[in-house]
Amino acid sequence: MEFATNCLHAGYSPKNGEAGALPIYQSTTFKYDNVEDIGKLFDLQASGFFYSRLSNPTVDAVEQKIATLEGGVGAICTSSGQAAIFIAVANLCKAGDHVVATANLYGGSTNLLGVTLKRFGIDVTFIDQFADDATINAAFKPNTKCVYGETIANPSTDVLDISRLADIAHAHGVPLIVDNTFATPYICRPFEFGADIVVHSTSKYLDGHALCLGGAVVDSGNFDWKAHADKFPEFVEADESYHGCVYTEAFGKAAYIAKARVQLIRDIGCLASAQNAFYLNLGLETLPLRVEKHCSNGLAVAKFLNESAAVSYVRYSGLDDEFNAKNHELAKKYLKDAKTSGVLSVCFKGGYDAAVKFVNSLKLIRIEVHVADIRSCILHPASSTHRQLNAEQLKSAGIEDGLVRISLGLEDEKNLIEDVAQALAAIGA
Ligand SMILES: *Cc1c(COP(=O)(O)O)cnc(C)c1O
Repeated sequence: MEFATNCLHAGYSPKNGEAGALPIYQSTTFKYDNVEDIGKLFDLQASGFFYSRLSNPTVDAVEQKIATLEGGVGAICTSSGQAAIFIAVANLCKAGDHVVATANLYGGSTNLLGVTLKRFGIDVTFIDQFADDATINAAFKPNTKCVYGETIANPSTDVLDISRLADIAHAHGVPLIVDNTFATPYICRPFEFGADIVVHSTSKYLDGHALCLGGAVVDSGNFDWKAHADKFPEFVEADESYHGCVYTEAFGKAAYIAKARVQLIRDIGCLASAQNAFYLNLGLETLPLRVEKHCSNGLAVAKFLNESAAVSYVRYSGLDDEFNAKNHELAKKYLKDAKTSGVLSVCFKGGYDAAVKFVNSLKLIRIEVHVADIRSCILHPASSTHRQLNAEQLKSAGIEDGLVRISLGLEDEKNLIEDVAQALAAIGA
């Protein structure tokens, strides 16, 4: 089936007389007729549900839908994007291992990799994806277990050179994990370019209504764990914590996602709730329609701001100008019609004061700590998320004090442009 059809129908096919909408299985547990049946579940000889910490029918349907949309063999829905990233990395790495990641990640991901996982003994080296091969190759160590990047980086909208990084990762015998949050599978399907694992913060466009936190891990099924058994023995040797299961034998191509569920989701307990999976499913049903509008509003506002004398630059990879040239080339290769989401950053020549005045002058676009919301929103990092940093620290974080991040929602383009125009007038542009 085509993409929009799968957004509506994948994962749940009601039988004769059953509910047309995905039912919410609001239950921690499931009832069985005899001990033999439940024993088969524990031995992985039958599939079914027994406790909603591991799996739940509502969550399962949404997992199947997301796996279908990404073209993967399986998925897990988690309680947040951060949880998904933790599960994706921890399924490959243990204390003493190492990750190569791009430097332009979402702040929460940079912190998870650079601080929290470091405390767990997992080291990270951040790289610039535009560095030459020799420089990137030099970041790898014998204990490197994966490469990590974002299809469209939050908030810079830098576009990941997925094929190039997949080739480099594979030459070192490790998988590439791609955070596909901003692109969504409608704009880019990273598996088609060689990525092995996809993660999402479904809190953004997949839910799309700013209703519920959530995340997803998706397995392409393409990485050959047996061929790299030296690096990934846990995939090919008996797991004593799970009845001596050998994941590559028991689950074949779905070894990665099965191992993530029966080890990590079991032990950490961060599966999405049935209620949140239901909301997420509602968002997924209209994903293609919404993403088109987010992207067209993003491009229209980016172009409008780019014309203003008060603006020093607009960072938006959908723009075909000199400032965004390198990323725009990548957008043409990897993103459907070079669409790059509804998020952009704009830097004002008037610095901190101009940025604050612009934000405070907006009437429609709301001040919110979020992106990818159905309603347009804006944030001035220097006075909010990054306010504890001084001028020098802001500079080294690549955040100028005149920079604001705008996420365009689904309002009429005309009203958004009018709002931006009157706020530009308020700062004397
Ligand atoms: C928001 C975000 C995350 C974190 O997701 P939560 O659902 O907030 O935990 C991870 N990656 C990207 C690219 C994000 O935008």
